[in-house]
Amino acid sequence: MPLFLVEKPFTLYILTKLRDANTDQITFRKNMVRLGRILGYEICNNLDFRIIEVTTPLGAKAVGVDIYDIDNIVIINVLRAATPLVEGLLKAFPAARQGVIAASRKEIVGREVPKEMEIDIFYKKIPKIKKDIDNVIIADPMIATASTMLNVIAEINNFQPKNIYIASVIGSEYGVKRILDKYPDVNIFTVSIDPELNNLGYILPGLGDAGDRAFG
Ligand code: URA
Repeated sequence: MPLFLVEKPFTLYILTKLRDANTDQITFRKNMVRLGRILGYEICNNLDFRIIEVTTPLGAKAVGVDIYDIDNIVIINVLRAATPLVEGLLKAFPAARQGVIAASRKEIVGREVPKEMEIDIFYKKIPKIKKDIDNVIIADPMIATASTMLNVIAEINNFQPKNIYIASVIGSEYGVKRILDKYPDVNIFTVSIDPELNNLGYILPGLGDAGDRAFG
């Protein structure tokens, strides 16, 4: 199953800072950037590569690795919460082209835990995505009901990229399952799968509203 849980001690240490309600805005943002970089490197480890040979300054031959897909990357920033995550991803993929999608969730007031949220995609600017060549990374730190992510994947799928990766920090069990049920080939990289959603569609235990915590 294309679900990559990046739960090493250093990553979990950063996630713990993000979860802590006492973490201030600047520390929160800096740690999102750190996680973006780590998730980027984890995604790098799953790109296609070939074995090559190079000559060292000593004239000796060394066998090495060429991750040739590293320059065929498009990052989609799901505004606004993903912005610090994208800053980190760009450290791993400095040559990436970037797109933005601005989506808002309609606030709900019911008592039931929502199965779906009403999503309004009110702005999108996506660079050219090369069919069967580009690898698209959709960055969104929080996958709650996955309603936003399913909308974004549908948009990106129109371009028929080589692969779609999701870079996220916390996914709910329900949201991650929803994505993989509909798109079994999408590769989800996340640090934690949290068990629940509350009646407002927030992940529990989660980290709160990622956009508000990063931007105030
Ligand atoms: N978006 C957030 O920022 N937090 C959640 O818990 C769910 C969606």
